[in-house]
Amino acid sequence: MLYRYAKEMNTPVWDDGQWSGLPQLEGALEAEVCVVGLGGSGLAAIHQLLRLGRTVVGIDAAAVAGGAAGRNGGFLLAGLARFYHQSVAEQGREFARRVYQATLEEIARMKAEAPQEVRAVGSLRIAASGEELADCEAQWRALRADGFAVEPYQGPEGEGLLLPDDAAFNPLKRCRRLALQALQAGARLFEHTPALRIRPGEVETPRGRVRCQRVLVAVDGGLERVLPELEGRVRTARLQMLATAPTEARFPRPVYRRWGYDYWQQLPDGRIALGGMRDAGGEAEWIWQAEPSQDIQCRLEQLLRQLGIRAPITHRWAASVGYTPDGLPIAEEVRPGVWAIGAYSGTGNVIGALLGQEVAWVLAGARPPRPLFLS
Ligand SMILES: Cc1cc2nc3c(=O)[nH]c(=O)nc-3n(C[C@H](O)[C@H](O)[C@H](O)COP(=O)(O)OP(=O)(O)OC[C@H]3O[C@@H](n4cnc5c(N)ncnc54)[C@H](O)[C@@H]3O)c2cc1C
Repeated sequence: MLYRYAKEMNTPVWDDGQWSGLPQLEGALEAEVCVVGLGGSGLAAIHQLLRLGRTVVGIDAAAVAGGAAGRNGGFLLAGLARFYHQSVAEQGREFARRVYQATLEEIARMKAEAPQEVRAVGSLRIAASGEELADCEAQWRALRADGFAVEPYQGPEGEGLLLPDDAAFNPLKRCRRLALQALQAGARLFEHTPALRIRPGEVETPRGRVRCQRVLVAVDGGLERVLPELEGRVRTARLQMLATAPTEARFPRPVYRRWGYDYWQQLPDGRIALGGMRDAGGEAEWIWQAEPSQDIQCRLEQLLRQLGIRAPITHRWAASVGYTPDGLPIAEEVRPGVWAIGAYSGTGNVIGALLGQEVAWVLAGARPPRPLFLS
């Protein structure tokens, strides 16, 4: 393997270089709510807060979608991190069914909001073993029993399930659009502005502060570092990806294989974006530093070549996400007036957006219309 780590390579394939950036916060501001973290979840919360007539300041330590939200696989998957039958077994059928239905509706809403941004192509879960194929069958049975769309699949990618209501998108593009729309709607957003101290009523940053009634920390990877109360319940891991130059069309829809550890999709311009192999890295991948590693990048390259893709690799990148032991996200008031959402266990594009909207109602002093995690 020829791969040698070069820091400048840590750029996701999603970045078209068109972002002109936002200012750093300097001085003191007041708002009803301060949102820490401008990924997909924080931005979803900001939009809901604006719809509810609240004043919002949003800050990000790096940039809009500078974390996992702009550096992920671009899958919009229904449900939670666990497969549906596991969710039913672990969380109960009613809860699993309600969450699955809400995530399906959220994918449809994302598509309706920006039809050109979301490709409603479904997804494939491909089994890498007989045991996994049996698990696909259990997932198929549970989904069918509750009336959700799923089909057995056999094709060039392998054998498993086709989930026709899943979708694919460019996660970075979506977040940047949401940030610009939030600015137009009156939110004040700042980049390169880490929250150094978060206290009830105040968020302190290197060159300023935000006085506010409530704070929302919407951070996936590293949540337990921002709010140490969550240490022991959230563990941060690094996930890595690579992408190639355009190649001939082979994958009409996103694929995840080997219990979701490996995943790839072909973008509309023919590029392949492929990620995974976290489990192969063992303990070394349970870190919050989000830089590609030699070991995992070589394994990803091997997987790419095993799939028969010869196109040159143009991008390599990493980002961090938070995991919980039961696969359920964190959504709670951690300090008086300070709420946290995050730790989506590797699958947060849809559930994070839903949770952001749900917690916004609570922060606005109202009951969410259809509470899933907060009552
Ligand atoms: C390689 C990879 C592939 C993935 N693939 C998928 C997929 O295909 N489908 C899917 O659903 N999920 C996927 N995920 C998971 C998904 O990307 C995340 O769950 C989701 O994007 C989390 O978004 P977020 O807005 O909650 O948090 P984040 O993206 O973590 O955003 C939090 C933001 O907070 C900022 N921040 C952190 N600390 C501070 C601080 N102290 N002060 C201010 N700002 C701070 C960060 O800079 C960051 O921009 C993947 C993740 C990775 C890394």
